[in-house]
Parts: sequence; structure tokens; C-alpha cells
Amino acid sequence: MVPHEPPRQPPLGFLFLPPIRVQGYSIAGEETVVQIPEMDVCFDIGRCPRIALASNYIALTHGHMDHAAGLAYYYSQRHFQGMGTGTVLCHKSLEQPIHKLMEAWIDIEAQRTPYEVIAMEPGTDSEEFELKNTIHLRAFETIHTVPALGFSVVEKRSKLKEEYVGLPQEKLVELKEAGHEITYLRQIPLAAFMGDTAPGDHFMRDDVRKAKVLITECTFTEPDHQDRAKVGRHLHITDIVDMLDDIESESIVLTHLSRRTHMKQAREQLDAAIPAKHRDRVHLLMDSRTNRARYQQQADGELNP
Ligand SMILES: [Zn+2]
Ligand SMILES: [Zn+2]
Repeated sequence: MVPHEPPRQPPLGFLFLPPIRVQGYSIAGEETVVQIPEMDVCFDIGRCPRIALASNYIALTHGHMDHAAGLAYYYSQRHFQGMGTGTVLCHKSLEQPIHKLMEAWIDIEAQRTPYEVIAMEPGTDSEEFELKNTIHLRAFETIHTVPALGFSVVEKRSKLKEEYVGLPQEKLVELKEAGHEITYLRQIPLAAFMGDTAPGDHFMRDDVRKAKVLITECTFTEPDHQDRAKVGRHLHITDIVDMLDDIESESIVLTHLSRRTHMKQAREQLDAAIPAKHRDRVHLLMDSRTNRARYQQQADGELNP
């Protein structure tokens, strides 16, 4: 008798939410790593799948193993493959533990891996970090069983004030030299990411509820699992539904579903819980079947607009 082949890896979750891609794995307790290639950032690192290496930055929400396990490997592979030193942005309380982790690897491997850690402290100057030109990552506290951060990605552009639009260049220079403030800072929340969290005010921040794409955990969908969500400081689908009227995001991507929930069943529970008017903008990252069909439509639409 020939034994069975080993089971295959599930495919990466993937959604194209123009102009960004949201891709990765996210299953509660196992692995969460969600990449937005256009922003050069990966939220959490999971077990460091190959795609994560391409991100220059890892925004780490908290230290639970399913979110942080691949950290040392990420640094090491980045270096090994000549991709430059990887950078992790994290909660202040994780800065020293990450140094210790990398110290331990020096003893284990008998070599030193270059790495960068940046502690982000909400409420201080270091709550924000420029990922690339005009694109800023901002950290804020969320509510979980350990210290945890949520992140928003905000585009900051200096714009001419309305009353000066259309004036000739010389006139603008003149006004500026005379000390007039002719521009203002326009902030556009592009994306927000909630790692593990209980419901709370952090969802009502403007850079979260107005983010074009909101990616958030939703660990439980079964009607009788609301208590489990409370104990683990996680979200239940009813928590999301309660916030839907306030969340203006074009797309809401749910992650961190429990493994025990079958995808088909989760989809049904979601459709039952979410009012019809909101259903089109709520996606499940790991529902590959639905997401692949959606992507196929996007690709076909491009061929035959
Ligand atoms: Zn988790
Ligand atoms: Zn956690």
C-alpha cells in the first residue's frame, strides 16, 4: 500500500482592493501575516512566508506566537538573500525582548544577524513612522490579553488652500514671502490594521473608521461563541455588525477566524449576521474560493471593460 501524500499548504489569502493588494495568511492561534506590497509593509509576520521577505517593514501588533514567530527568520533571510536589513516596528514593551531574541540566536547560530527594531509609542513623537514618501504608519493602543497595537497608514500631502487655487505662481511666492500660510496638510487614511483586539474606541478613530481599507480580526462567527470572544479579548461578528454604520471604509477585510470554523459555514454565518446593505464591502481574507472568483471578474473586466 502506498501511503497518502502529505496535505498541501492552503493558498495565501489574496484580495485586490484597488489600488492596493491585501495578501497573506490569517488563522487564529496558528498564523497571522498580512502584507500590503504597495505600502512596503507586512502587518505581523506569522511564520514568515516567502512573500513577507519583500517588505522592508514589519508592523507587529503584539507578541503572541501566531503573530510573531517568524521574526528572527525574517531578519535572517532578508540578510542571507541580500535584501537589506529588515525593520520591525512594535510596541515599546517588545523592544527589549526582541533584542534578547536576536541575542539568543547569536549563541545558537554562532553568527550575528543584522536587524532593526523601532518602538512605537502612542501619544508621543514616536507614534508615527514614514514608510515611504508621504506614506506614514501610525500606531495606537488596542485591547488584548497582552499589550497590543493597531496601525493606520495615512497619506500626508501639503495642499494649496482653496482661496489661493488658480493664482499665478508669482503671486503665491509673494504671499508666502509675506508670511501667509498658503498650504495645509491633507491627511488621507488609506488603510488600518487591527491585530487581536476586543471592541473599543480605537475603532472610532477617524484614521480607522474612515480608512479606505480596514483590515480587522474577527475570531468568532458562531452565534454561541460571544463569551469566548470576550474572554480572549477578541471580536465576534456581532461586534463588527454593531460598528458597521459608523465605519465608512470602502472595504472591510476580516482575518483571524478560528480554524474550527469551516469556511463555508463562516460565510453563511457572516451573511446571516451582516445587513444586506453592508455585505458587498465585507471580505474574508481566507475565503479563497469567493476571492478568486472576485479576482477573476476584476481581471475579465480589465480585458473587456
Ligand atoms: Zn492571534
Ligand atoms: Zn493574540
